[in-house]
Amino acid sequence: MEQVRVRFAPSPTGYLHIGGLRTALYNYLFARHNDGKFILRIEDTDRTRFVEGAIENLINSLEWAGIDYDEGVFVENGEVVQKGEYGPYIQSERLDIYRKYVDELIEKGYAYYCFCSKERLDNVREEQKIKGLIPRYDGFCRNIDIEEAKKRIANGEEYVVRLKLPHDRDIKFHDLVRGDIVINTNDLDDQVLLKSDGFPTYHLAVVVDDHLMNITHIIRGEEWLPSTPKHVYLYEAFGWEKPDYVHLPTVLNKDRKKLSKRQGDVSVEDFRASGYLSEGLVNYLALVGWSPEGTEEILSMEEMIKQFSFDRVAKTGGIFDKDKLDWVNGHYIRSFSPEDITDLAIPYLKEAGFITDEDVKERYDWIVAMVSTVQESLSTTKEVVEKVEMFFGDEVKPENDEVVEVLNGEQVPTLFQAIREELQEVDELDEEFCKGLMKRIQKKTGIKGKNLYMPVRSALTGNLHGPELVNIIYVLGKQNILKRIEYVENNYIK
Ligand code: GLU
Repeated sequence: MEQVRVRFAPSPTGYLHIGGLRTALYNYLFARHNDGKFILRIEDTDRTRFVEGAIENLINSLEWAGIDYDEGVFVENGEVVQKGEYGPYIQSERLDIYRKYVDELIEKGYAYYCFCSKERLDNVREEQKIKGLIPRYDGFCRNIDIEEAKKRIANGEEYVVRLKLPHDRDIKFHDLVRGDIVINTNDLDDQVLLKSDGFPTYHLAVVVDDHLMNITHIIRGEEWLPSTPKHVYLYEAFGWEKPDYVHLPTVLNKDRKKLSKRQGDVSVEDFRASGYLSEGLVNYLALVGWSPEGTEEILSMEEMIKQFSFDRVAKTGGIFDKDKLDWVNGHYIRSFSPEDITDLAIPYLKEAGFITDEDVKERYDWIVAMVSTVQESLSTTKEVVEKVEMFFGDEVKPENDEVVEVLNGEQVPTLFQAIREELQEVDELDEEFCKGLMKRIQKKTGIKGKNLYMPVRSALTGNLHGPELVNIIYVLGKQNILKRIEYVENNYIK
């Protein structure tokens, strides 16, 4: 088999949608599975959508996700650079190339100059709508003699170049996921290939580039499926062999609608800022539209590369299930070291005002201890903030009446007295001290089991359940423990 070459070809719109990340991921998995090459090409021919810094942002997101590529556009030392034998890989730098191929199409009679004004096109469209027809170009300029067209251009008339599709012809192609697809040209428009600003449209640029860059498989979102017959016709017009196609089902929300910004996170950046690990997001996204062979859904990138094939890609929309994403992400959070999770959580803790830069420098181990008390229960690293809230402030709020009842147990005053006496022995608590503390109190007071642990937990956290008590004691420290005991005595113990 010839070497597999695939590409991810985003338009730099300012952010990478997670649907786009999944497209990139499937390209990547397919390329790596087949020892092929993966290319990043930037499709920036729509100048009205140009966004400053968008290329850098996109590349950052891919890098964060652990999706690397072999050729195309990279960022090195803050600069956008290009590498590979098939460059340039940024379409706005390839205008001369497209021009040459447009001229070839015109010469061969596969394309024509069109001089229709915007007003005329709007009128035609309006009339078609009134008649209940699908709006499309009416072919007004299809038969203008080429010499005459050239004269009009020389006289400064504005023009575009359109594809001259034959009437009533079935265009056939094969999609590796969807099978054979046939679309009749009567259902297609004479697509603009070159715009009046001299830029190609996506349709021309994508075909020329995929051919010149030797792309073997086009893996992209299903929103491009209706455009594919036009592309297939262009391959024929040029006399080029066409690549294989795979159109991926759209990533949908639970209502089976496209994920939209209004409903929350949609960009890779958003998910990253919400505290998802790249491993969690990537593993989960792979499952939206593709299913592994076995029942195991937690898969490393290597494992996914090993297993990936189009046979197991779904034909219909993949539902994005946030609960499942949280579950997958939680799995990865638990598999990370406490230090790694702490480092990821520190920005959120600082933002919440729980810690300062000073704390990070002076009390890093304490922060790690605090984060590790809640690590098991996290779905995202951002969630650390709400989970560790219990360690801050002097007040304790009992979560329910049962807690208050526990605090009013008759053994509780003895218990608190014993804790105070124990704490008097030390200036600061270390782990050793904490580990032995409850045992010593048990010995001293004879109180044990539930009667011992529940009131202490209730006084320190206001809850009957939660992280290991020893860890809570250590993270709170001597002064906070004393303050909390006093607080519940003053407010909840009768
Ligand atoms: N530039 C297109 C996009 O933004 C790429 C479509 C394709 O892969 O052909 O999605």
